[in-house]
Amino acid sequence: MKVDEKAFRKIALKTIRDKRLSGAYATAMQRNRGARAAALERVPDVDELRDELKQIRAATVANLGEHLQEFERNAARAGAQVHWAQGKEDLGNIVLEIARQHNARRVVKSKSMVTEEVHLNQMLEEAGMRVVETDLGEYIIQLAGETPSHIIAPAIHQTAGQVADLFADKIGQRVDSTPSTLTQVARQTLRQIFLEADIGISGVNLGVAETGSIVLVTNEGNGRLTTSLPKVHIAVMGIERLAPTWEEAGVWLSLLARFSTGQALSVYTSVITGPARDTELDGPEEVHIILLDNNRSRITGTKYEEALQCIRCGACLSVCPVYLASGGHAYHSPYSGPIGAVISPLLFGLENYKGLPNASTLCGACLDVCPVRIDLPRMLRELRVDQVEQGLVPLPERVLEQTASRMLATPLWMQVFFGLGRFGQLMMKLFNIKFNQLEQYPMVAQKSFRQQWAAMQEEPDERQG
Ligand code: SF4
Repeated sequence: MKVDEKAFRKIALKTIRDKRLSGAYATAMQRNRGARAAALERVPDVDELRDELKQIRAATVANLGEHLQEFERNAARAGAQVHWAQGKEDLGNIVLEIARQHNARRVVKSKSMVTEEVHLNQMLEEAGMRVVETDLGEYIIQLAGETPSHIIAPAIHQTAGQVADLFADKIGQRVDSTPSTLTQVARQTLRQIFLEADIGISGVNLGVAETGSIVLVTNEGNGRLTTSLPKVHIAVMGIERLAPTWEEAGVWLSLLARFSTGQALSVYTSVITGPARDTELDGPEEVHIILLDNNRSRITGTKYEEALQCIRCGACLSVCPVYLASGGHAYHSPYSGPIGAVISPLLFGLENYKGLPNASTLCGACLDVCPVRIDLPRMLRELRVDQVEQGLVPLPERVLEQTASRMLATPLWMQVFFGLGRFGQLMMKLFNIKFNQLEQYPMVAQKSFRQQWAAMQEEPDERQG
């Protein structure tokens, strides 16, 4: 699908007009901002930590190849099997081959945006497998046949009442709509599915190169069940999600939960280093780590490399006026909000996502809140320039912008234009013509700023007498 301004606007308008939906976003994001602010107040050196994280992420992404090799070596040494996937097809083939070797038909998944990127569920279902999402938010949207509306809270657009109706319809259980009851229903339903699963598929919050470990951060415990109950665990990791050492991973983890949910640390932080040892009672017999590129290596070394420093905390979404108004589905991507507007065109092609770089007021709130201080407004502007240079902007818009640019650069044309504007306004006043809302605009000044400035320079300075 091509996501141009029209496609974005269509869903955005639907959200704006739907009071329940826009209310759901507003309430959830307000709560999120409050929790973050309270959490950060308790960390006096948060700015130093942010600087440190920026430096860590920038240095890691700049030397990604080297760190990935170290990670691969150490993960293999710990007994994990490491695979490299260039894109969607590779990833699908690798997962299907592992499933074939184990005659697997039932898959449980914990939340993984990287697999949403390549529609892994769809690929597995087309191959005849049953795939069940086990993160509550992902489970809800899977039942509803929807896509995520937020990178850390995929079902944020659903109210508890809607979820209760959904469970009654899809699971056959009519319960009240209190969050604890709904969670209980999901737990009971999922427990049996966990026990029967052949394979568990998870994402990876970060990998640690020095030990070849992967770290999963969750709040529901489903990540631990997904990665330890089935005999085979497949972890899909974007190649940029790497910390060279545990010390650096510590800085990352100390900010991740605070900026995403306002917690000091998520409820579960699971570290997996290879499959279960002989002496361990729990854990999978096989751990496969699939390192997915999907155009990330094409971003390294470019003016957009900074986008790969993202730790997917979701903080920029909760402060973005465009995300708040339009909602996550308007982005037509697993990645919404300011980071989505940057990363989606980079990963999936600017020609396919040319509407997104314009989905921003460039107010800078995303840069202010980002724990890695990623300059998203700069990259949004760069993407807009690329759009023009690649001829992706429609002709009428191009003509309008070129005309405006010439006019703004030429004082004489500006004077002519504003002179005509003033004349038009006077005529409208004279003949009492009213256009919708136009009368709200003030009259164009009789003299331009330049003329007023020049006149001021010529006047004797009265203050000096
Ligand atoms: S860009 Fe920054 S604020 Fe947005 S998700 Fe990434 S790390 Fe978080």
